[in-house]
Amino acid sequence: MSGTELLRVDERDVAAWDDQADVVVVGYGCAGVCTALEARAAGGDVLVLERSGGPGGTSINSGGFLYCGGGTALQRALGYDDSVENMYAYMMAACGPEPDAALIQAYCEGSVAHFDWILEKGVPYKESFFAGAHEPFHSDDGLVYSGSEFAWPFNEIATPAPRGHAPQTIQDKGALLMNKLIAAAVAAGVRTAFGTRVESLVQAGDGRVVGAIAHTVEGRKRIRARKGLVLTAGGFIYNEDMLSRYAPLLKQCRYKVGTETDDGSGIRLGLAVGGEAIRMETGDISLPVFPPNDLRFGICLSEQGQRFINEDVYFGRIGEYALMHQAGRVFLLVDDEHFGRPENFPIEIAAAGETVEEVEAELGMPRGALVNTVAVYNEYAARGEDPLFHKGADWLAPIATPPFGVIDLSTESFVYTAFTLGGLWIDPQARVRGGGGDPIPGLYAAGRTTSGVAKQGYSSGMSLGDGSFFGRAAGRHAMTSRT
Ligand SMILES: Cc1cc2nc3c(=O)[nH]c(=O)nc-3n(C[C@H](O)[C@H](O)[C@H](O)COP(=O)(O)OP(=O)(O)OC[C@H]3O[C@@H](n4cnc5c(N)ncnc54)[C@H](O)[C@@H]3O)c2cc1C
Repeated sequence: MSGTELLRVDERDVAAWDDQADVVVVGYGCAGVCTALEARAAGGDVLVLERSGGPGGTSINSGGFLYCGGGTALQRALGYDDSVENMYAYMMAACGPEPDAALIQAYCEGSVAHFDWILEKGVPYKESFFAGAHEPFHSDDGLVYSGSEFAWPFNEIATPAPRGHAPQTIQDKGALLMNKLIAAAVAAGVRTAFGTRVESLVQAGDGRVVGAIAHTVEGRKRIRARKGLVLTAGGFIYNEDMLSRYAPLLKQCRYKVGTETDDGSGIRLGLAVGGEAIRMETGDISLPVFPPNDLRFGICLSEQGQRFINEDVYFGRIGEYALMHQAGRVFLLVDDEHFGRPENFPIEIAAAGETVEEVEAELGMPRGALVNTVAVYNEYAARGEDPLFHKGADWLAPIATPPFGVIDLSTESFVYTAFTLGGLWIDPQARVRGGGGDPIPGLYAAGRTTSGVAKQGYSSGMSLGDGSFFGRAAGRHAMTSRT
C-alpha cells in the first residue's frame, strides 16, 4: 500500500495534543458504539471520532440482524435448542475456508451474554419465529434462520438452530438497533467529535499507537489515546482502487452494500503502523433472487447446463458459488407451478418454452446437456431425493409443469450485492496483529475494518454480530492497558 507515510506520524513530530481520552474510537457505526459503551462501562474517558455529521455508519441503514446463538434468551423462549458446541460446529463449517478457530470460539462462548447485553441496552425483540428463509422482510418477527443451518452439508455437521436475531420493527431494523445503542452511549457519557476524519495514526518509538491526527473544519486536531485506539471505520467496498488491488471479483457485483465512507481508511491506517490485513479478496456476495421462496424448487445451472449447488442454501452461498466458481454466468430454471418474480430486484428471462428441449436450444446449450440434467433431477426429486447436492425434500419436486422459464442470474443481468469481509488481522481481544502475529501495542479494531468470523462463508447477522462483539472486547481490553 503506497502513501503509508501520510497515514503514520511519529510521536516525536507531535508537539502537543489538542484533546485526549483513555480510549479513542475511530468510526461510530455498530462496532464503534459497542466499543465505546464497553470502554465507558470500564470507567474510561471515551472519545469517538466520526468523519460524518452524525452517528450510524452503514450499520444504521442495515437489516439490523445479529447472529447470536448457543442458547440465547430468544432461542430459549421460542423453544430452540442450541449450544456453544453446536454453534461452533456450524460456524467452523460455514465461515471458511479455514476460519479463525480462536475468534469463532470466543464469539460462540460469549454469544448468550452478548445478546443479553444487547437486550439490556433496550433493543426490543419479539418472541416470534419467522418461518420464511433468511430475512424477515415485511415482518417484525424476532428469530430467523439467517444462514444455511438447515441445508446440506451444514445440517449433517450441526443441529440446525435459528440464530438471526432481528429487532422488533417491520422496517428500519438497523436504525432501531443503532438508535438504542447510541442513546445508551449518550446516557453513559461517551464523548463524540463529528466531522472529524482520522487521517493518520501517531506511533511511538516502541511501536505503540498513542493517538491520531484528524481533519476537521477547524483544521487538524491531534488526539492522544492514553490506553488504546480502536479502528471501527468500516470496510472498502466503495474504494475502487482497493477493490482492483485486492478483491477484483467484487467489482462485478452491481449493488455495493455499504456507504461511501466504506473507503478502506481504517484498514489503511492499520497497515501504516505495521498491522497485517488478511483475506482481502473475500466478501459477502449475495444473489437475492429469493423471495419468493418457491423459486427454490427450481435448479441453479452453470452455462454448461449443470447444477452446481443445492438451491435451499443461504443466498449468500449461492452468490459466492455463482461468482467465484461459475464466473458469474448462471441461470435458474423453474417450471410454471413454482415460478414467481423476485420481490427485490428486476429479472431478465433468458429463455422460455413448452419443453426443456426448447429451453435448451434457446440457451444455445449442446443438445442433451440440459435435458439430461433435468431428467436426472426429476427422477430423484419425484422420490424426494437429491443425490448430487442433497437439497432438502421440502424443496424437491420434478420440474414438470410447462411452460418452463429460465431466469438469467449472470452478473450482467441480475443484481449481485457485496460488501468486503477482508481486513485487519485481530486476535480475540480485538488487538490488531502484525505480520508475525504479535499485537501492535495500543491498537485495536473491529467490524468491517477487520477480517472477522466470516473468512468468506457468511450468514446474515455475522457482520453486525462480530463488529459489536469484538468491538466490546476491544473496549474492555484497552481499558486494562497501561497509560
Ligand atoms: C441494506 C443493508 C442491510 C444489511 N443488513 C445486515 C444485517 O442485517 N446484519 C448484518 O450483520 N449486517 C448487515 N449489513 C452489513 C452491515 O451493515 C455492515 O457490514 C456493518 O454495519 C459494518 O459495521 P461497522 O461498524 O464495521 O461499520 P460502519 O457501520 O460503516 O461504521 C463505520 C463508521 O466509520 C466512519 N469512518 C470511516 N472512516 C473514518 C475515518 N477515517 N475517520 C473517522 N470516521 C471514519 C464512517 O463514517 C462510519 O460511520 C447490511 C448492510 C446494508 C447496507
